[in-house]
Amino acid sequence: MLIKEILDNEAEMIAIRRDFHQHPELGFEEFRTSDRIAQLLTGWGYEVHRGLGGTGVVGTLKVGSGGKRLGIRADMDALPMQEQTGLPWASVNEGKMHACGHDGHCAILLSAARYLAEHRPFSGTLHLIFQPSEESIGGAKRMIDDGLFKLFPCDAVFGLHNFPLLPAGEIATKPGALMASSDSMTITLEGKGGHGSMPEHCIDPTVAGASIVMALQTIVSRNVDPQDSAVVTVGSLQSGTTHNIIPHSAVLKLNMRTFKSEVRDAVKLRIQKLVHAQAESFDVKASIAVDFGYPVTVNDPQQTEFAMQVARDVFGADKVADPATVKSAMGSEDFSFMLEEVPGCYLWLGTATGNNDYSVHHPLYQFNDACISSGATYWVKLTESFLRS
Ligand SMILES: [Zn+2]
Ligand SMILES: [Zn+2]
Repeated sequence: MLIKEILDNEAEMIAIRRDFHQHPELGFEEFRTSDRIAQLLTGWGYEVHRGLGGTGVVGTLKVGSGGKRLGIRADMDALPMQEQTGLPWASVNEGKMHACGHDGHCAILLSAARYLAEHRPFSGTLHLIFQPSEESIGGAKRMIDDGLFKLFPCDAVFGLHNFPLLPAGEIATKPGALMASSDSMTITLEGKGGHGSMPEHCIDPTVAGASIVMALQTIVSRNVDPQDSAVVTVGSLQSGTTHNIIPHSAVLKLNMRTFKSEVRDAVKLRIQKLVHAQAESFDVKASIAVDFGYPVTVNDPQQTEFAMQVARDVFGADKVADPATVKSAMGSEDFSFMLEEVPGCYLWLGTATGNNDYSVHHPLYQFNDACISSGATYWVKLTESFLRS
């Protein structure tokens, strides 16, 4: 059952969501978005802290004498892509689009924030965390590095993502690894360039690079337990310009994904060993730069059972997927950094309309506004249950 007062404010929350949608901002540039969020939270009586991770906003509401502390997180950033929906509220910022629905996540949390401030149906401390840059280099990590959980200690933290492949009003999550780790690296090979007709005077980084690409294929097949999973993809091998020049250097760009931190560590180490040993065998100098890394998103079993129980109460038991049937996703999420610090749960909120639903990151993707009130009701009920006096 959705909360009546939340439904009464639905039109206003949809307008806020569409305003964010029309003015998307990329990671760490969420200036307008965070201004609006801070202004709304302040107006509703939240104590607002700004600046963590650059544009991060934390809204705190203390009610009663309860000692528990709850964190709920929404992400604010958009993607560097051109919107093609043609909607009246389509992006006015060239080459930027809220194609992952983070505008919707903000509207959901704001809708809950307003109700919780007006009705105060809990006893304890509530921290609403609006984070920058989920899509690129980890705004969650920056907020934590800036002291997020020291300044705003939480006993548990929760986050949700809209899921256009799941029917609207359904919830899916599970304990343990829900989403993969993702690490990107750039490998630079330095040889000695020269004329293509005189390889004996050169050190050819192309041949070394080709050999490294092949050697990397053995990590998943020979080093990872067949019952675990991992991906190592070389997405780019750039070397040379034309037929008769041996280039001086070559650059490989790779991405790896895993579902266990021990597999992640082992694969990373194996990549480093293979690259350096292969390079040495060709007399090439190799350097490896880690571009970014997101850990595995690991849900705490107890908090996940709690989050699922709230979902069953709000949406009905038949709308909450049996965790045994929920497949982990190879995608990654920087909420994982928060779950490394504080136990909690990340869940997927179904938003499919059944009519031309495009996946997130598609230029025709549309956030389903009907889900703002259901998501907000969920956050309110979760807060009430977690911060019971
Ligand atoms: Zn995304
Ligand atoms: Zn997203």
